[in-house]
Amino acid sequence: MLKFCSECHEEKSVSEFCKDRSRKDQLSYCCKTCKSDRNTAYRAANQETEKTRQALYYEANQNKVRGRCANYRAANPEIARIRQKICDKAYRKANPGKINAKTALRRARKLQATPK
Ligand SMILES: [Zn+2]
Repeated sequence: MLKFCSECHEEKSVSEFCKDRSRKDQLSYCCKTCKSDRNTAYRAANQETEKTRQALYYEANQNKVRGRCANYRAANPEIARIRQKICDKAYRKANPGKINAKTALRRARKLQATPK
């Protein structure tokens, strides 16, 4: 079955449309691709609003989000390791002072612990 997308003006399969219970045919007026583009444009145009919304959601659902992330990491250990590596690298690049201070502290501790 086909449906007309009122954004891109193309006829597409109904599987290309999101569900929308408020509509007569229970399908969104625009296709998934158009909806995705529309959402991306909205997020780009309203970055501050989105940041605030996400922060509020995280605050209200911290345990839920943390649990979901932990489940993802447990299910995808390889991807999680790679992501962590990328984050660590970015942190090291962004905070050389903190890294150097930590390294100096560790070396000092090690020197005191080593008998001469
Ligand atoms: Zn479309």
